[in-house]
This record gives sequence, C-alpha cells and structure tokens, in this order.
Amino acid sequence: MPPILIGSEIYRRSSYGPKHPLAIPRVSVALDLIRALDWLPPAQYRDSPMASPADLARFHAPDYLAALQRAEATQQVSPAERDRFRLGADGNPIYREMFRRPATSAGGTMLAAELTRGGGIVHVPGGGTHHGRPDRASGFCFLNDAVLGLLGWLDQGLTRVLYLDIDAHHGDGVQDAFHDDPRVFTLSVHEDGRWPFTGGAGDRAGGHARNIPVPAGFNDSEMLWVLHGAILPIARHLRPQAIMVQCGADALEEDPLARLCLSNNAHRTVVGAVMDLAPRLIVLGGGGYNPWSVARCWAGVWGCLNGHAMPGRLPPAAEAVLRGLTFSRAAGRDPPEAWFTTLADPPRPGVVRAVVRRAAARAMEDLPAAPPAVP
Ligand SMILES: [Zn+2]
Repeated sequence: MPPILIGSEIYRRSSYGPKHPLAIPRVSVALDLIRALDWLPPAQYRDSPMASPADLARFHAPDYLAALQRAEATQQVSPAERDRFRLGADGNPIYREMFRRPATSAGGTMLAAELTRGGGIVHVPGGGTHHGRPDRASGFCFLNDAVLGLLGWLDQGLTRVLYLDIDAHHGDGVQDAFHDDPRVFTLSVHEDGRWPFTGGAGDRAGGHARNIPVPAGFNDSEMLWVLHGAILPIARHLRPQAIMVQCGADALEEDPLARLCLSNNAHRTVVGAVMDLAPRLIVLGGGGYNPWSVARCWAGVWGCLNGHAMPGRLPPAAEAVLRGLTFSRAAGRDPPEAWFTTLADPPRPGVVRAVVRRAAARAMEDLPAAPPAVP
C-alpha cells in the first residue's frame, strides 16, 4: 500500500487571529506545494473526518469538550471557564473553528491509526498537537491528536509503540498521557530551557520516556549524532510494532519561536531513518511558525515517505504557491529567493558539542526491556 496523506480544507480558512503565531497558513500550503509537485495521486489522499465528542472522550474530559464546543458556538467563555480550561488564555485563543479544527486534526490521526492497522505509512500534517491535556488547552493545542492516535493503536492490541518527537518544544502532553503505560515509549528531542520547561535529561516518566534537551544553535551534524547515538539504537532496542513521529518544523533555523538551527534535511533524514524500523508509521506535523519553512519541510517529508528525489529548482506551479505567501513578521519583509525556488535547504552542518553528546549518551542509559509483543 503506498503512503496515505490525510488533510482537510478546514486549515485553509482558519486562523488563530492576526497577531498569533498560528495566523499563518501551513497545512494548506504544504498540500498545495505537494500537489504542484504532482506528488499526490487522488488514491493517496484522504479527507480527514472530524472526531465526535464521543471519540474524543477516549482521552479528553467530557466537561472540557462541552466547554470547547460552547466556546466555538458563542465565541466567548466565562472567567471561570477561562481559568479552568485555559480557553482564551495562554495563547489558546477563542476563534471561529476552535472545536472543529482540532477535532479534525484528531479525527485525522485516529483515522491514521485505523488505516495502519495491518501496516503502512500515513502522513497527517495537520496533526501533532502534542501539548493538549485531557481537561484543558495548552501551548496552542486544544486537543491531543497524537495521544488519541496512539490510543487507537493500543486499542488494536499493540503493546510496543514508539513516539518520537522532534518539535522544538518538549512533547509534554504525550509523555504525561502515557506516564503509567509502558506500552508507549516516548522520546523527545527539544530545545533546552524553552517552554514548557519540562523534559530534562533525567525526566523518564517511570522509565519508558527519554528526553534529549539540546542547546540553541543545534545543527544538522548534531541531529545526525542524536539520530545514530540515541534515536536509532533506542528504536532497535524496543523493536516497536508502530512508530509515530511528531515532525514539528519549529526546530528549523528560520523559525521565529525557537533558536535551533536545523535545515529541513534533518527532518527528512530522521523520518527516512525510522520508516523501515516498524511495520506501521504515522508522521504528524506540529509546531512551525514560518510559513515557507513549514510548507517546504512537510512537503519534503511527504516526498521522502514516497521515495521521491528532492527537486533542484521547483517547477513554476510550486514556486507560485510559495510566492503567493505573505508573512507579517520580520522574515516576511524580504524572504530569500531560495524559499520560493527550492524544497531542500542547504545543509547546516557544524561542530557536535559535548553537551549534545552527553544528552544522547544519557538517553541510552538503563533502557527498559521491550514489553512482550501481543499478538
Ligand atoms: Zn513546538
């Protein structure tokens, strides 16, 4: 079965508001770019279903789901609900599709778990909302599609699942959701000292989590070191039945919210290296707040999943998609020509610093035995 891409038009029309980092289009641009490259035959595309409150209640609290729907319908929250559910607070805005959009992301990742029941590869660029909590919004995430997809796999009977998160921020919501469940091993590589300030090198969530905090300036060579020194050995040790990769694009150098310096080659290298290590693979999106770098990164990841070589100069239709973007931040005033004309960044190699080597080595210590695989 060829890889499947799950998308939705809901992302095209939707914004978190003009001043929010998620004012920008991301999934729609990635999909437009992929289609302009002729990389999406209709047979490989599925429209994301919207998860119902009953589906979402597999992880989320019914009173929170009711509050989220009410907030969408009325476009307001009471002070008590704001305090309790963090709606309209902490960068989780009241906006037009504030239930339907995250419920569509959740429906997409849950469908991905179902489509990979017997094996396969699914990309859900609208997924990756890894900060969402059972009973409140957190870090721009109203729901947690990653947790719901992982629960879908567990409900099928899988007992050895690897969740790998390369977003610039710690995948705290997913790690905490499986704190007491050794069937899901979570591994997060993220910027040290950045919100949510969890995910230190010693944070192991009962043994089946590893965290690799990395310093500002984290480069492609350092990601390769982490890949070969920790991610791949851990994956081979666990022999997972399924792997989910949260592929946030905010660890790229051009991102305005983090200080890591990867090129998009790093994301494709990581995804390409893990895709043969389990019979089931789901690749999610995640953070990413520069519209050009997000779209080029995720389109490239889809190309990688399909074995396509990266194009040199983009064809005119793809270039037109990228030239059609506007961005109100500083980077949008005079974007470099390469953001319009290429998909792959130039590599960003560098020195592999001792702090990175130490963090990777520490993640390898005291790995738990892989749970027995049933069936
Ligand atoms: Zn992030």
